Amino acid sequence: MGGRESELVLLDENGIRCDGRKVDEPRRIMIKAGGLKNADGSAYIEFGDNKILVGVFGPRDVHPKHMSNTDTGILRVRYHMEPFSVSERKNPAPSRREIEISKVIKEALQPAVILDKFPRTAVDVFIEVLQADGGTRCAALSAASVALADAGIPMRDMVAACAAGKVADTVVLDVNNEEDQAGQADMPIGYMPNLKKITLLQLDGVLTPEEYKKCIETGIIGCKIVYDLQKKALHDKYFGSGGEQ
Ligand code: UDP
Repeated sequence: MGGRESELVLLDENGIRCDGRKVDEPRRIMIKAGGLKNADGSAYIEFGDNKILVGVFGPRDVHPKHMSNTDTGILRVRYHMEPFSVSERKNPAPSRREIEISKVIKEALQPAVILDKFPRTAVDVFIEVLQADGGTRCAALSAASVALADAGIPMRDMVAACAAGKVADTVVLDVNNEEDQAGQADMPIGYMPNLKKITLLQLDGVLTPEEYKKCIETGIIGCKIVYDLQKKALHDKYFGSGGEQ
């Protein structure tokens, strides 16, 4: 946050952002359900320049066994970034950031899945970030929801995710990497539109109470756009073709 704002025009006099978008305009989003034949469910998302593949396995036996729960199935999530996914090669070893993002995505998906009919089993969600450009946790969470639905896991709703943020003193929808680095705030939101429940809310930066409220409202509008594309991706796999915004 902060620092490079003077060199980069984040918002010009016509209200156009550094990548040509309006303040309330998300990046191009494409979601595809399925694609991995060895997974029980899968999904692929392109969210701007983010490219992320998700495979879901299970419900299946838990190894190690002591991690299992006799009352319910458990959800496990691994978010992993390929070393080539970012401009400066990432160390292939799991980073603290990847461990944190795995945890927040798991916690965001947990209220959506119904695993009590599958005691002693695990549902594993593997997220592979092939290309990253800011907002990977939201894109990954959205794709993971589609992959879980594609695997036939019983769900209360899908979690759709999108960030809002503040750049050049203005609340904007869907913060890109440059805006994340040079802007004033980034707020990733995960939302279940049918249940009207937020399951992920993080904030990096400083906002006034009014801006905070506006960011949540703006982020939820983005989540609803993503939700329509998630449903379309599943519909297209099972009843037809397409899936692009
Ligand atoms: N990033 C990077 N190298 C890293 C980790 C992240 O270049 O080792 C970039 C990547 O484009 C990522 C962005 O920084 O999308 C923002 O990362 P953040 O931790 O805010 O998570 P995200 O916005 O991807 O959910």
